[in-house]
Amino acid sequence: MDSPPFDELVTANRILAREGVVDAFGHVSIRHPSHPDRFCLSRARAPECIEADDIMQFALDGTAIDPGGRKPYAERFIHAAIYEARPEVRAVVHNHSPAVIPFGITATPLRPVMHMCASMGTEVPVWDSRAHFGDTNLLVTAMPMARDLAAALGPRAVALMRGHGCVVAGASLREVVFNAIYLQLNAELQLRAAGLGAITFLSDGEVAAVLKTRSSFTFERAWEYWCQRAGRPYDARPMEGPLAR
Ligand SMILES: [Zn+2]
Repeated sequence: MDSPPFDELVTANRILAREGVVDAFGHVSIRHPSHPDRFCLSRARAPECIEADDIMQFALDGTAIDPGGRKPYAERFIHAAIYEARPEVRAVVHNHSPAVIPFGITATPLRPVMHMCASMGTEVPVWDSRAHFGDTNLLVTAMPMARDLAAALGPRAVALMRGHGCVVAGASLREVVFNAIYLQLNAELQLRAAGLGAITFLSDGEVAAVLKTRSSFTFERAWEYWCQRAGRPYDARPMEGPLAR
């Protein structure tokens, strides 16, 4: 059995914290490499503080496996429902990045404005918990709500959560971290550009062309850079086999 790459998951947490995608809240998970019906996610702790011993394993209904007294994140169900619905997804980020929030609470859609952000796709859905669940505290703390969110995400890489944050799904940990960071950058750039005038977004064809030519080298190059900034060792070995795209 492959042992889960807990150190890589710790690194992903530290990178997302260093880049401001998560603060005290937000989380990143991986599907277990040899048990696809499990995923790995830290206990409830700020990403900047997470150590390998904090990483727990969960079944795809969000049940903790061997919790050992550790308190899980209340919103682990977000990860569970996406892994349940999307067999090809191997890593998930949930965050409350301030830059994306405006696009979840207005009629202005978040759309790709630069080539590095193309992986968000040309359409980013906004999931509103109130539509099916009424007035709640907006936290996704049970499977029915999480499955509703996963349905809104559909086959896409990104969905926004109205008044809350977003989810990002990917084929590898490096890819999902890359996409979460560039999603935030896209939101910042789009907000800035909107003050200047009408925005020319990437076309569907440009998005497709970017994704067609994006290789694992892109993710590796970025990962090494972010490891350096986060003070984490860079492991050049692809942890999940050949990376998608
Ligand atoms: Zn949340």
